[in-house]
Amino acid sequence: MLIGVPREVAPGETRVAVVPETAGKLVKAGLQVLVETGAGARAHFTDEAYRAAGASIAADAREVFTKADVLLKVQEPMQSPALGAHEADMVREGAVYVSFLGRDPESEAAKKLKARKVTALSMEMVPRTSRAQKMDALSSMASVAGYKASLLGALRLGKFFPLMMTAAGTIAPSRVFVFGAGVAGLQAIATCRRLGAVVEATDIRPAVKEEVQSLGATFVGAELLDASMVAAGGYAKELTPEQREKQRQMVAERVKLADLVICTAAVPGRKAPVLVTAQMVKDMRPGSVIVDMAAESGGNCELTKAGVETIEHDVIILGPVNLPAQLPLHASQMYSRNLHALVMNFVNKEGQLNLDFADDINRDSCLVKGPAVKEAAATEKAS
Ligand code: NAD
Repeated sequence: MLIGVPREVAPGETRVAVVPETAGKLVKAGLQVLVETGAGARAHFTDEAYRAAGASIAADAREVFTKADVLLKVQEPMQSPALGAHEADMVREGAVYVSFLGRDPESEAAKKLKARKVTALSMEMVPRTSRAQKMDALSSMASVAGYKASLLGALRLGKFFPLMMTAAGTIAPSRVFVFGAGVAGLQAIATCRRLGAVVEATDIRPAVKEEVQSLGATFVGAELLDASMVAAGGYAKELTPEQREKQRQMVAERVKLADLVICTAAVPGRKAPVLVTAQMVKDMRPGSVIVDMAAESGGNCELTKAGVETIEHDVIILGPVNLPAQLPLHASQMYSRNLHALVMNFVNKEGQLNLDFADDINRDSCLVKGPAVKEAAATEKAS
């Protein structure tokens, strides 16, 4: 079975789906690995490193797309300017395609893959179960992003993070406020604490209060917490307008005092909740910074613009997109390990494809069903 690793063509994407370490593991498992030349270059992995791991190097993307039985990518298939063709149109009929693909089976990419009879697994759809934890790329990338968001905030802030005792006097530490203490938020809290800031955070799930405190941050808004805010699976629910207003009143005074606000609040499948209003921005101190990680899904701050930096009322607002691409080496390594675990789950001991739909990870991750899914159709029809 041949695993194909093309170079990413999305603007600004620097990650590679498979790093040499993983290529080596796949080869040891009896698979062949074909990597497009330069695929790892922007993450600092050379063709030589892939060769040393036992992979072959292809001269261009077309060779990888047309030969591979399983394609591993970071981004969904898209138009390749270099080849003048859509990546999905080059995938071999009947092959398996794995990448971040979203959850919409009617997306352009999904429809194109379906037309090629390709079975597509979407990394967003990997279930958040304990068995699938090592395949959970959304979490590993959120962790990278939470770290990087903190550093971006520290860089833009005209202040030190830690308390400084200098000959020129004592400088107070910066104050950071984090909205949302999920994967990205907890990593942001930990990173800001390591840099010496005083950190406060809020969330609406009661379970995270202790996690926030264990990282040395103060939890704000505990009075708001109640079990009704948690949906099945432990995820947050969307707040009612009354609850949202109550939350705003609770955090407004803390946000006013913050030097850096990091926004990571999200409710699965919903537009990002607006937690920082224009008035709250106006009330912040001049020179303070907001890093809104939810920019792509509308932003937690009313004034965020995705992908750009704006200044409103002397507050710097960043709406970064694709933060993991700003840390390509480790982001690629983590993503690659997630992919490796996923692939080993649908390959048998002989190194052959065994995309068994009795397995919930294979079934739940599948966005587009193709002939590579073996007994699934039969099992489903029978049930
Ligand atoms: P997550 O689901 O693990 O965490 C989101 C948290 O927000 C949860 O703990 C939830 O309880 C909390 N929340 C929901 N509503 C809230 C509210 N009203 N007030 C306070 N907290 C609330 O998600 P994650 O993986 O940590 O990702 C967080 C955000 O970062 C998402 O919007 C995600 O799309 C985004 N993200 C951005 C980048 C980037 O490059 N910009 C990269 C990765 C993730």
